Amino acid sequence: MAEFTMELNDEQQEVREWLHGFAADVIRPAAAEWDEREETPWPVIQEAAKVGIYSLDFYAQQYFDPTGLGIPMAMEELFWGDAGIALSIVGTGLAAVGVLANGTEEQIGTWIPQMYGDQNDVKVAAFCSSEPDAGSDVASMRTRAVYDEAKDEWVINGTKTWATNGGIANVHVVVAVVDPELGSKGHASFIVPAGTPGLAQGQKFKKHGIRASHTAEVVLDGVRVPGSCLLGGKEKLDERLARARERARAGGERVKNAAMATFEASRPAVGAMAVGTARAAYEVALDYAKSREQFGRPIIDNQGVAFQLADMRTQIDAARLLVWRASWMAVNGKPFTAAEGSMSKLFASETAKKVTAQAIQILGGNGYTREYPVERMHRDSAIYTIFEGTSEIQRLVIARTLAGTPIR
Ligand SMILES: Cc1cc2nc3c(=O)[nH]c(=O)nc-3n(C[C@H](O)[C@H](O)[C@H](O)COP(=O)(O)OP(=O)(O)OC[C@H]3O[C@@H](n4cnc5c(N)ncnc54)[C@H](O)[C@@H]3O)c2cc1C
Repeated sequence: MAEFTMELNDEQQEVREWLHGFAADVIRPAAAEWDEREETPWPVIQEAAKVGIYSLDFYAQQYFDPTGLGIPMAMEELFWGDAGIALSIVGTGLAAVGVLANGTEEQIGTWIPQMYGDQNDVKVAAFCSSEPDAGSDVASMRTRAVYDEAKDEWVINGTKTWATNGGIANVHVVVAVVDPELGSKGHASFIVPAGTPGLAQGQKFKKHGIRASHTAEVVLDGVRVPGSCLLGGKEKLDERLARARERARAGGERVKNAAMATFEASRPAVGAMAVGTARAAYEVALDYAKSREQFGRPIIDNQGVAFQLADMRTQIDAARLLVWRASWMAVNGKPFTAAEGSMSKLFASETAKKVTAQAIQILGGNGYTREYPVERMHRDSAIYTIFEGTSEIQRLVIARTLAGTPIR
């Protein structure tokens, strides 16, 4: 276990400075353009691939950082640059983690490189779980995967929605029902390789924020994938389903949902994205408050403005500490007895929404225009309280964890 310290080590500081440089020099200057275009910023992803930020190596290095701070630090810096572009860069990593967490060595080695492509021909990946009638209520998922034993193939039918990179991905990771009797315990994840017949993009959403990130429906109509595309393999799935059936027969023993533990570990990463956006808006507001003069003095000389900045900074720092704590707990295998991962995501995402709104207020009329970045940051920040579990769901998870009642 790493010794407790409030400081990043030399290597982490170096990585952070490098990421910050990329965020400041490449991402931030491109942010307004891609927000307006509402298109995937392929040239920026390509640039990130060239310098090594868009790669499995980089992601894995941060993911396996023994202090747990690699991912939150990287997310904060990239999202400080711009949330929409940063999500286009890290979206593939979110799908790759699904394979890293559940796939066999062979699946990891085969599919993750195809998710990223190479420097000269970058690719992206998508993770497709949400459906039109299964958002917060994941257990009501309807996309069905049926095993065709004769051909050793899975046949997948259903409609996914809100998929980041959905339809433009080289590799789609699709969650589907394999045993409808078991609710969320009867789900499994599948790789759908590039060019598989039957997978098509549905509507692409026009969004309020993170507009550079592609979000779309994914329709699966008689999609057939080989047995080797079931993440983790058939044997492991059969064992897991048998255990779940046994528990269901025994009257639904109160077991901690493994998926919940996974969420506790992944939610701080979203919290870190929110910290990045909040910090970016706070910095713009601070600079503005120091230089904008009204009534013959900088507006920061008014307590009403200065106290807002004091609150903004305090909440951002508190959010980061919650994120770092949860990330440290995840990497050190600490049990999330108070849903600390959900706590960090809840607080950081609500902070980002609040702080970016305050930043608009501090910039006055300028804050309300697209001449300044804070209105974009405010639009972007609204996603953090929605995806990877809404704020209400985070509260529900925290409350049920504290109460000791099953989460689902
Ligand atoms: C831009 C974007 C990108 C996304 N990317 C992905 C992706 O890559 N892959 C993917 O699978 N999904 C993705 N999502 C989906 C996202 O995770 C869902 O939108 C989210 O889980 C909420 O589901 P929903 O939209 O169906 O809302 P609903 O579940 O319908 O919720 C609507 C409202 O009801 C509230 N609510 C629901 N149940 C309860 C309850 N029990 N108690 C109190 N309040 C409740 C919610 O908090 C919310 O305020 C993305 C979404 C967006 C907008």
